[in-house]
Amino acid sequence: MEPVRAVKGMNDVLPAEMPAWHLVEERFRALAEAYSYREVRTPVVEPTALFARSIGETTDIVEKEMYSFVDKGDEALTLRPEGTASSVRAYIQHSAWAEGPVTRWYYLGPMYRRERPQKGRYRQFYQLGVEVYGDPGPHVDAEMIDMAVRLLEGLGIRRVTVELNSLGGPGTRVAYRDALSGFLSPSREALCPDCRRRLEHNPLRVLDCKVPTCRQIAAGAPRITDHLTAEDRSHLDGLRRMLDRLGTPHVLEPRLVRGLDYYTRTLFEIKEEGGELGSQNTLVGGGRYDGLVESLGGPPTAAIGFAAGIERLVLSLPDGSANPIRPAVSVVSTGSATLDPAVVAARDLRLGGIATDIDTRGSSLKSQLRRSDKLGARFALIVGEDELSRGRAALRDLGTKEQVEVPLSKPEIVDAVRTAMEKTT
Ligand code: AMP
Repeated sequence: MEPVRAVKGMNDVLPAEMPAWHLVEERFRALAEAYSYREVRTPVVEPTALFARSIGETTDIVEKEMYSFVDKGDEALTLRPEGTASSVRAYIQHSAWAEGPVTRWYYLGPMYRRERPQKGRYRQFYQLGVEVYGDPGPHVDAEMIDMAVRLLEGLGIRRVTVELNSLGGPGTRVAYRDALSGFLSPSREALCPDCRRRLEHNPLRVLDCKVPTCRQIAAGAPRITDHLTAEDRSHLDGLRRMLDRLGTPHVLEPRLVRGLDYYTRTLFEIKEEGGELGSQNTLVGGGRYDGLVESLGGPPTAAIGFAAGIERLVLSLPDGSANPIRPAVSVVSTGSATLDPAVVAARDLRLGGIATDIDTRGSSLKSQLRRSDKLGARFALIVGEDELSRGRAALRDLGTKEQVEVPLSKPEIVDAVRTAMEKTT
């Protein structure tokens, strides 16, 4: 029979790859918590309307990429394509705004987009992200961008560029939309069919089109940064000043737009230079979304967030960043008479916090010792009949081959192994 395979673009992450994933996830958690963020977990499935109303009806994500279905109760549901919409829904649903003026949340989890799979782009992918509600910035904007850069730096990903733009608030948007439509309209027929539609609904999205003729046309478009209102300009200047103060280099990229409609003012991407990700080298994307909480039914609340793709971070880690997991001790029994006490000793070591492996099948001594080597254990605890009769076992350092006798009783065994471990490190 043909074996069943995973869905295209959806990957298994096997145990050998996990140390790198854990490294990224643990560093992120520790950093987020150091910055006073608290974790939120929301469902993977949400009402389809949530994404249509937040990300935007005419975005690629909502038009083409969502995994949507009607469940048996006739509800229109979607596998979440990103984390912000769900987080905002939860923020409103649980009145998180009533608990304090500023809320800092972080999340980690799988997202789903039916994109064309390639290196660094998958149909199920994992994001880590943060959101701050209730602070209009610009200091928090700078703090968040700097935090993302420090996360990458801490992971050893050093050659990165921060691209920054401001989409302004509603005042800027109206003025710029007019200027942009005025510029693009004469070239309407040369635009791709998608962009012709975008021109009607959201001309800003034309700037993000990958079709060469559209890119060419967009290259001469007016810059949004030339249309910022005085407030929006001062917000952007304040953010840049604070970034300088924090020592985070950045470049202004007035053509930067992102594939989600909810952004206002600050917008940023962090790209890796010269890595192996090629065209998928955007590690982090984020921005401010000051109107979204209100538009989804909550109180007016300024907000900002970013998300990073965990697969991309893992691919960008320098070689040798994460070490394979090795047991400290491999417990070896010399025959059927010593398997019972060997299993007890393994349990006691494990509960004592010492990573321990044991072959519980009663295999030959030779095969057990081969396994100890293969797993890269530092010590073998050999439970032989002779020593056992004296309540003891042999602890062999598999590196130096030195062997000492240790008591098999608890907690002495844990102390003895710890002492031996300290000697060799
Ligand atoms: P976005 O949610 O589109 O703002 O993307 C934020 C980050 O998520 C990107 O910079 C990528 O690192 C990651 N990302 C987005 N889409 C994908 C995908 N299809 N596969 C893998 N990573 C992705």
